[in-house]
Amino acid sequence: MLTQNLGYPRIGSQRELKKICENYWADKTGYKNVLQVGKNIRRENWNLQKEAGIDVIPSNDFSFYDHVLDHSLTFGAIPRRYNEVILKKGNEELDLYFAMARGYQKEGLDVVAMEMTKWFDTNYHYIVPEFSKGQAFKLFSTKIIDEFYEAKQLGITTKPVLIGPVSYLLLGKEKEAGFEKIDLIKNLLPVYIDILSRLDALDAEYVQFDEPFLTLDLTEKDKKAYEYAYKEIRKAFPRLKIVLATYFGALGNNLALTASLPVNVLHVDLVRAEDQLTDVLAALKDDTILSLGLVDGRNIWKNDFEKSVSIINQAIEKRGLDKVWIAPSCSLIHAPVDLDNETNEKNLSAEIKQWLAYAKQKIAELATLKKLITNESPASTLQKLEENKVAISNRKISKIIHNPAVKARVLALKEEDSERLSPFSTRKIKQRELNLPLYATTTIGSFPQTAEVRSWRAKLKNGTFSAEEYDHLIAQETEKAVKWQEEIDLDVLVHGEFERNDMVEYFGEQLDGFAFSKNGWVQSYGSRCVKPPIIFGDVSRPEPMTVKWTAYAQSLTSKYMKGMLTGPVTILQWSFVRNDQPRSETCTQIALAIRDEVCDLENAGIKIIQIDEPAIREGLPLRKAEWQNYLNWAVKAFKISASGVKDDTQIHTHMCYSEFNDIIQSIADMDADVITIETSRSQMELLDAFADFKYPNEIGPGVYDIHSPRVPKREEMIRLLKKAKTVIPSEQLWVNPDCGLKTRGWDETKKALIEMVEAAKEMRKTE
Ligand code: GLN
Ligand code: ZN
Repeated sequence: MLTQNLGYPRIGSQRELKKICENYWADKTGYKNVLQVGKNIRRENWNLQKEAGIDVIPSNDFSFYDHVLDHSLTFGAIPRRYNEVILKKGNEELDLYFAMARGYQKEGLDVVAMEMTKWFDTNYHYIVPEFSKGQAFKLFSTKIIDEFYEAKQLGITTKPVLIGPVSYLLLGKEKEAGFEKIDLIKNLLPVYIDILSRLDALDAEYVQFDEPFLTLDLTEKDKKAYEYAYKEIRKAFPRLKIVLATYFGALGNNLALTASLPVNVLHVDLVRAEDQLTDVLAALKDDTILSLGLVDGRNIWKNDFEKSVSIINQAIEKRGLDKVWIAPSCSLIHAPVDLDNETNEKNLSAEIKQWLAYAKQKIAELATLKKLITNESPASTLQKLEENKVAISNRKISKIIHNPAVKARVLALKEEDSERLSPFSTRKIKQRELNLPLYATTTIGSFPQTAEVRSWRAKLKNGTFSAEEYDHLIAQETEKAVKWQEEIDLDVLVHGEFERNDMVEYFGEQLDGFAFSKNGWVQSYGSRCVKPPIIFGDVSRPEPMTVKWTAYAQSLTSKYMKGMLTGPVTILQWSFVRNDQPRSETCTQIALAIRDEVCDLENAGIKIIQIDEPAIREGLPLRKAEWQNYLNWAVKAFKISASGVKDDTQIHTHMCYSEFNDIIQSIADMDADVITIETSRSQMELLDAFADFKYPNEIGPGVYDIHSPRVPKREEMIRLLKKAKTVIPSEQLWVNPDCGLKTRGWDETKKALIEMVEAAKEMRKTE
């Protein structure tokens, strides 16, 4: 029985990759230094896995920006607009690569970046391959071969990891009409064959093909492409050992297809899809090795050794010791790097730490699991098993995890707790007393988080500022923002969110059941890493979280001050979530905490409260058949958070980067009095879903893009609003930007909002 890893984090244990890349982009370091840091990270990762005792160690899992982009470069799938970047004297392959990732504005050239999107249902973003009709591919970059050779020089024969040909094509986007991307399989395959023969010449033993799309809904054509591709590869290399890696879900109705492919090792995810083991065991061909994905690659919890051993034994019983491998469920790039770097008790107490494993610890877990099966060095291994049992069992009963009052409250929830007192048609009439004009103007919540504001928070953290000093500065900043909003005559004001570091972290820090790591960084895209909060226990709210600042801001003005909260689904979605109860249960607990906050805001005299849910859509399961179940509990959680108030309190919600067509019924079911959405980049096209549905509640379609410093013209916004009015009656329309303004500067923000308010006033004249 071998252990294999599917991929190791490449950011470096001290985020070395981020630092060197950002320095290079800022012209502060040279090309050679970047390459050297990459080399060091790879060497460290390989050695660490070797020393831990991993049998099959991956290569080509390293990437300077994104592994999908690496493949596009490798296959020569380079959009034409980068030709001049390639030709520019002095530019290296890496410069072209970064140009594709980030755009290129230098020496008179101005080329936009390739598009970026989410990697399945993770928070990792990849660069979308661009395909045109009849697209040709050729080996452009030899990264895969170079890195295999590099490891070999270090004495490690690795298993190169490639995105499989079908998944690579399905990840891409057709940039013109008249063809389907999957048709390109015939053009693409020769490059795979070319790469494989080069690896073969270097005596590679195993090659891993990642085909996560096998856990998704596939068309007949996709299935044919799978059969074709793997048959061709097998034909060209009868002896090469192919590892086919599937992850993020069950093979389900693709199981028969997958089991029929001519590969040597099939890897399946048994964390996301524990139940598929029996079916997979039954479907496999006799000589296929089954790789069990047991160690959670997407979360931070320690593996339950007893449970894993029993699963492994079940597989061994069916297939024999030599036909079973063990592995993490998926690549470890979705896990933070090393728990040993969490040395600060204040962040993560020893009690919580004993339940966690980051990537390095997960690698060690695999090695231990193997020893438990093969009976090597029994004394120390058995001790590890004992320690593991203790940690697992005290997590089941720990007082910091289990709060009977919270569990009881969830159990006692009644249907009416997730419904407003009256339907929208009644609330609408009561809310007329708010006396808001047609085309009421507002913003999404945050105002510029300047370097200065962030420096105050840093000083509070390191002790330079006392809490009083910090609060005083935040109060001043809030007051300035309120006064300025009054001056330009916005209708519904916000306090500006200056006291918040991040829209999830701010709430997590004040809720029980959340912990924060110091070094739990995970790559989000390129050099950007995020440090998600850890939800380890039952969630409750010991004290009000936003009432002080909101009430203070309201006291400065006679206009309406909008309370600003993050919704339960978004808090859940952007955290590491506990695995000892369903996500829906955790979400409901968060919803109750937010509900209490909403009620406290209402009691403090706040008449309009926004509950942001930008992450509702990204929580959708990968398989369509599971959507409705998710939407049911997610919408319900939002409604629990929003339904504790009186009819005349106006509840807003906000969503960005969303399409609404296929979930519009659920959006309507959320029954927010007002929803503000990002629409300007789509020229209001996203509104059509609401129009077609005859969405009854009020809507604020974003009238300008906040992602760029460009100040929009009044006429542009008027044009967008007129367009909106053709599909949504004006009584239902609000006027606001696409999203929060925290990443913008004050100068452009002021100019843009002045124009926005004037645009709304022009629109009122047309009524
Ligand atoms: N209220 C938040 C803000 O304005 C919303 C952010 C978001 O939608 N991502 O910053
Ligand atoms: Zn937003």
